[in-house]
Amino acid sequence: MAFFDEIGKTLADKGREAAKKAKDVAEILQLKAQISTEKSKTKELYASIGVLYFKKHRDDENDEYQMFFPEIEKTLAHIAELEERVKKLEKAGTCPVCGASVGKNDAFCAKCGAPVENEAEEAPEEDVLETDDLRKLDAVEEQKKADPDDIFVEEDGGDEEKADDGEKTE
Ligand SMILES: [Zn+2]
Repeated sequence: MAFFDEIGKTLADKGREAAKKAKDVAEILQLKAQISTEKSKTKELYASIGVLYFKKHRDDENDEYQMFFPEIEKTLAHIAELEERVKKLEKAGTCPVCGASVGKNDAFCAKCGAPVENEAEEAPEEDVLETDDLRKLDAVEEQKKADPDDIFVEEDGGDEEKADDGEKTE
């Protein structure tokens, strides 16, 4: 029965073909995930270089990448300002000693008498540039390994292809 043999063979071929296709799809997905991971790594390394470069050259008015600096400075200042607001909001209303709630304008805790830090008492940030982020930068330079995510919140990959997000979730 050559005819049925032929059909059987065709079906077997089709089965193998489908199995191979499924395997290929799985492999493609796996490879894409790996690509995505590697891209994230390079992105972080590029950013690390950027952070170190910026730190080193920010005051050089003739630097060839000077055109990027004002925007970075502006963003860092904005981050510092936002963090300051968070800090104040988190601090407001709680006694640092006993944890009792205190009025925003109270100088002392009504329960334990501890002095309560208020906006007026707090020494203003001397320099926006000495923010947590830049202290991180110092640490980063020591380690020679930057964690740019802490400095550059922006997650814009430019013209980089939008890959399936492997590591980064923000
Ligand atoms: Zn208290």
